[in-house]
Amino acid sequence: MQFIETRGNDGVKAKEVSFSEAILSPIASFGGIYVPKELPEFGTAFLEKHIESHYKDLALDVLQSFEIDIEESTLKEALSCYDAFDDPSNPVPLEKIEDDCFVMELYHGPTRAFKDMALQPFGYILSKEAQKRGENYLIMAATSGDTGPATLETFKNKDNIKVACLYPDGGTSDVQRLQMVTEEAENEKVIGVVGNFDDTQNMLKELLDSDDFKSELERRNIKLSAANSVNFGRIIFQIIYHIHGYLELVRQDEIAMGDKVYLVVPSGNFGNVLGAYYAKKAGLPVKKLLVASNINNILTELIDSGVYDMESRDLIKTESPAMDILKSSNVERVLFDKFGSERTKELMESLNTTGKYMLTGRELISLQDDFEATYSEDCECEDYIARYASQGYIMDPHTATCMKSYENISHKGLKTIVYSTAEWTKFSTTVARALGNDTIESDTEALAWIAENTDESVPSIIEGLFTKEVKHGKVVEKELIKDEMLRFL
Ligand SMILES: *Cc1c(COP(=O)(O)O)cnc(C)c1O
Repeated sequence: MQFIETRGNDGVKAKEVSFSEAILSPIASFGGIYVPKELPEFGTAFLEKHIESHYKDLALDVLQSFEIDIEESTLKEALSCYDAFDDPSNPVPLEKIEDDCFVMELYHGPTRAFKDMALQPFGYILSKEAQKRGENYLIMAATSGDTGPATLETFKNKDNIKVACLYPDGGTSDVQRLQMVTEEAENEKVIGVVGNFDDTQNMLKELLDSDDFKSELERRNIKLSAANSVNFGRIIFQIIYHIHGYLELVRQDEIAMGDKVYLVVPSGNFGNVLGAYYAKKAGLPVKKLLVASNINNILTELIDSGVYDMESRDLIKTESPAMDILKSSNVERVLFDKFGSERTKELMESLNTTGKYMLTGRELISLQDDFEATYSEDCECEDYIARYASQGYIMDPHTATCMKSYENISHKGLKTIVYSTAEWTKFSTTVARALGNDTIESDTEALAWIAENTDESVPSIIEGLFTKEVKHGKVVEKELIKDEMLRFL
């Protein structure tokens, strides 16, 4: 299957590209992104076929339904990453927390956050494609927490790929920072930056735009790619677990085949819920997609009123930092799907020049056909964490943003799947505070306190971080990033 561009074609780039081209060079004409030309069918016939399937077999069929230009053997090797998850027989467990509410735990991979679900197999495929073409790629990431560790983890020691990861010094949790700075692989570089996440992201953008840096890359025969969630190579892996979750409900006799369900997705860049949107559109019986946000509730405003307004907002730091986002890149793919490339280009240009856009009344109704939205403040999330802990289930603050949404619809008689995007161990000081201990300052203390006071234990991958050698101790000022990078390359 071919991939087309959300903002139309500029006459210079190819009008359509293959999957491998779309993942190696993910930016399309006019700054747009790639989307599949059409969607496969994941309706009841497909679901019946997979009622007994292991996650990996379901995944292979989903990938092959898109007719992507990646060999079956490569796909199978990529999917074997799930064998290293906590339970290889079911890498994505579904836990019942209420009669009609289930949590799909997407965090049982190596970095304990849902980014692994897609980045793990994606990294393998990207490296294989680079090798096949005899090309070398540099992946640069600015991270406030989860993307950095997951990107480093997937590309470590992979041929033909180098990774450089910038993080704001002091802007991540201890666990997240240690996951990055203890990275041992020779092909990866981690740089702490003096400043906040916005500064870090701006520095990365400046560097990538600088002609100087570009010609240095060219001289070294290195191409740039991106592993952020605008890359369709990540989205495709985020369709699979929505189908798997539905099948689990059927297997557990909670629903009959064909019954509709609600999906509640804690959202930032909109990649996770976009995967659910594609699954719904392809036939998965979903009543509504419920988009959960924190106080940076730009998506709530969009879905409630049709206005996307970055202009009148400042980013607010919250206890669910992976959702502290104003520019939610994957919304563009929904706009394209519903309103076409011309309108998408118009809306995105308006966003770039004025910081906002507004949908028409009709467009808003179309958006609300599929989506509903809510947001929760930090104190509400802490209340939900405490409440579910008292029922024996510990959730992280991102997952907790979903619970209000569930409560609002719980009288409707349909089952709900809530997506859990991080293990509590990554945000342990917040969880400890929610459980009543507000004197704890560090992750080590919080992890120990929670392990002592609940039934949870700290996985060895997390525990081991605190004694691992720091390999990337450097924190630099903005001016020195380029020198650091060139030394690494
Ligand atoms: C990345 C992330 C999110 C947001 O997911 P999107 O696909 O960007 O909407 C939510 N929670 C956690 C823990 C994450 O790491």
